[in-house]
Amino acid sequence: MNLIIMGAPGAGKGTQSENISAKFNIPAISTGDILRSAIKGGTELGKQAQSYIDAGKLVPDAVVIDIIKEHLATDACKNGFILDGFPRSIPQAEALDAMGVQIDAVLSLEVPDETIVTRMSGRRTCLKCGASYHVLYKPSATADVCDKCGAELVIRADDKPETVLNRLNTFHSQTEPVKSYYAAKGKLICVEGQEEVADTTKLVFEALSKV
Ligand code: AMP
Repeated sequence: MNLIIMGAPGAGKGTQSENISAKFNIPAISTGDILRSAIKGGTELGKQAQSYIDAGKLVPDAVVIDIIKEHLATDACKNGFILDGFPRSIPQAEALDAMGVQIDAVLSLEVPDETIVTRMSGRRTCLKCGASYHVLYKPSATADVCDKCGAELVIRADDKPETVLNRLNTFHSQTEPVKSYYAAKGKLICVEGQEEVADTTKLVFEALSKV
């Protein structure tokens, strides 16, 4: 299955794409994770991306399109994949089409803006491996310690309230049109994000069972 997951920042894309990846045994490709690890590694890509991410803006299309092209060409993706956080603009969606990639379904996690702002304040991220948690909805076993690698959990720099508002604006102006793009192709499936992660996962799996 070739899938895309979309949603506002904090809608739960990362968590649900991990669940889908495990259930269908396909790799999850998160452009956000790739960019953050490039920043951490101090690479040229990281240097290019940092100021955009810090401002809650989109990294230029050409940069992320190259990342996706490179990943989709690997063997790991030949039996399917889930794209988390790509495409986030119409030119990115068009670039995916131009690569000849067939998409089976685009899952949109619907969460109202008010909920997003509250949710983001509880989000915690692992400094080392990038795993994502929430103090209420997806807590780590030990407070502020990553279950996966034992490193410290922190609030992501771009999860600060002022940046979250910019990210929401960017989402509405540049990413929401992508939903209509896929709706017109009959590929869009909307799932209402629930308060409990497990309830959203159930709805996501139900929706995908019909694809
Ligand atoms: P995420 O972890 O998906 O919320 O992404 C974090 C940040 O990385 C976003 O706010 C953007 O600045 C950048 N980013 C991630 N994916 C993309 C993309 N497809 N296009 C442009 N910028 C992106």
